[in-house]
Amino acid sequence: MDGSHPGNGQPGGENENIQVMDWDTLESNLDSKIKLAQYQDQKKLKQWTAAFKQVTLADGTHYYHWNALVVVADNTLRRGVTSLFHDQLTAGHPGISKTLQLISPYYWWPNMKAFITEYIQGCATCQMNKVNTHPSHPPLSPITPVENAHPFETIAMDFITKLPPSGGYDTILMITDTDCTKASMFLPCKETIDSEGVMQLYLTHVLPHYGLPKKIISDRDPRFTSCFGKELCHLLDIHQNISTAYHPVTILGPTTNFLSFSVILFCILGHSFPTRSLMRHLDRH
Ligand SMILES: [Zn+2]
Repeated sequence: MDGSHPGNGQPGGENENIQVMDWDTLESNLDSKIKLAQYQDQKKLKQWTAAFKQVTLADGTHYYHWNALVVVADNTLRRGVTSLFHDQLTAGHPGISKTLQLISPYYWWPNMKAFITEYIQGCATCQMNKVNTHPSHPPLSPITPVENAHPFETIAMDFITKLPPSGGYDTILMITDTDCTKASMFLPCKETIDSEGVMQLYLTHVLPHYGLPKKIISDRDPRFTSCFGKELCHLLDIHQNISTAYHPVTILGPTTNFLSFSVILFCILGHSFPTRSLMRHLDRH
């Protein structure tokens, strides 16, 4: 009756030398302690018998609430019961309702839901594994589309990398018109492409049709944030938006479904680019 079953520790973890305890033995041990506690708190049990019609001396010796053994006001015992159904090895840390549901057929005490709720809210394992439904997203820096923008007036660039090699290419440069058409161009290239290579692609495939952009959205990719590029942007009066990993831009709408956009800059002038052509295109804006 006193719970001194050989080889058993207390459910509350009083015997730290025992790592794994048999559930049935634990329960039996706990029941013995609960029944002993009932003997020691007859006054309270008689009050509960009067207050709760389901509490009876069901077996003529011990108090039950229906078939559930009544646990007197001993928090160590109540913690033991809750632990047994919540955080023992096979319990798996069920939630409050589930834990209450599991305990109810076997043990009862007044307002046990509040006790179990408090117990689980204090369970370190549950807190560590809790799914954060309100993660702290980094603040966004939305980019407002320019009204009445021309096609490819504001562009964003990104690479689709790690593709199977094909025709000597393993990467696609995606250039997206973010304000007017939302259209994208997909230009094959190599992952090793540098800023000058990007610029050449732009000059070949975009600039002849749409001219120079007024705004380029870029990330901090070292390939494209050269001082040279910044100077060029300054020279051409191109407004360069630099997004960072902590301030992702919110642009491109549907195209973000295609891939996660870490947008890139362009704004680089190649050595072979004729200044006269450049100025001609500038005049168009
Ligand atoms: Zn837990």
